[in-house]
Amino acid sequence: MFATININTTSSEEFRDITSLIEEKVRVSGIKEGVATVFIPHTTAAITINENADHSVVEDIISSLDKIIPPRGHYSHMEGNSHAHIKSSIIGSSRQIIIQNGRLKLGTWQGIYFCEFDGPRNRQVWVKISS
Ligand code: ZN
Repeated sequence: MFATININTTSSEEFRDITSLIEEKVRVSGIKEGVATVFIPHTTAAITINENADHSVVEDIISSLDKIIPPRGHYSHMEGNSHAHIKSSIIGSSRQIIIQNGRLKLGTWQGIYFCEFDGPRNRQVWVKISS
């Protein structure tokens, strides 16, 4: 089963917890054992899995990435958003999550995050559920 999730980000950089949105697609698919592939079809956004219990963790990830890849750097790309392209490449555009007993098999503290690096924009997340 394939599904598209639309996300409207609201700031220039943000991490949006999309775990429940992916879980809903798994539930609708009816697939009990398999894999969910989550793919971001954008060059200035990404997907990651990290702690969703303490929100300061994602704030630290965003601020640390900003130190390594500053928005105002010496870049060649004329659009002015090279930092967002670089962050997108480093974090990556897809993740696979095991489905077991009809649920995403994530660690206790893990959540799936859509990472916006050049917002606000209307974004998509592509989800393929395979058995
Ligand atoms: Zn660009």
